[in-house]
Amino acid sequence: MAFGHLFISTQLLTCNFQLIKMSIPENINNIISNIPSNVKLVAVSKTKPNSDILEAYDGGCKVFGENKIQDLVKKYEELPKDIEWHMIGHLQTNKVKYIAPFISLIHAVDSIKLLKTINKEAAKNNRTIDCLIQIKIAEEETKFGMSVSDAKVIFENNLPELSNINIIGLMGMASFSDDKNQVRNEFKYISSKFSEFKSNYFSDNSIFKEISMGMSGDYKIAIEEGSTIIRVGSTIFGHRNY
Ligand SMILES: *Cc1c(COP(=O)(O)O)cnc(C)c1O
Repeated sequence: MAFGHLFISTQLLTCNFQLIKMSIPENINNIISNIPSNVKLVAVSKTKPNSDILEAYDGGCKVFGENKIQDLVKKYEELPKDIEWHMIGHLQTNKVKYIAPFISLIHAVDSIKLLKTINKEAAKNNRTIDCLIQIKIAEEETKFGMSVSDAKVIFENNLPELSNINIIGLMGMASFSDDKNQVRNEFKYISSKFSEFKSNYFSDNSIFKEISMGMSGDYKIAIEEGSTIIRVGSTIFGHRNY
């Protein structure tokens, strides 16, 4: 008798767990309702199937981020055309041509060579492509990104020739660390560079206005430190199996 009772309780517990597991649109709404209205959410759908993206799409989400060109092009071809696709990963110059016809925002531009290639491919497609400069965070050697001094050289010399690009702001990734203070300081660093570049190079140009920083684990801190675009994957779609 006692054993039977225990068995039933376990079943009920399993049931309850299913009930509180949220759907993809619920996860998105949960994030959106808890962030300021000026902060944009990019749903990072890398490694996830079209069915997951369509679930989010049917729930009203139209902005998705991918980090591999092949997946990005395939998903663009197969999914609704009013989706805004963002390239959030490291981009090689020889791959720019595949996304130039449709990409909405390139988040992680890290060299003048890449900017010039994007400019050329954008012109071929009769487009102006929005880009963010990824700023390298000093403490972490392994991350991609541009040094502040290289970024300054570009802002000082190359903006006029990049006529088919809008540099709309900066992107940054915090170190992979449990130390919240370190993460916060890295976001503060990106924000301070954004303010400095804005006043030095874009004081009469409102186009430079975005800071893309913050992922599932750190987007709340990122927003507190000035982020205007967060890139969230696993909190929306669940964990990824690479
Ligand atoms: C994967 C990825 C994200 C999202 O990461 P989550 O921790 O799953 O939210 C954000 N930005 C970049 C550049 C990524 O590669």
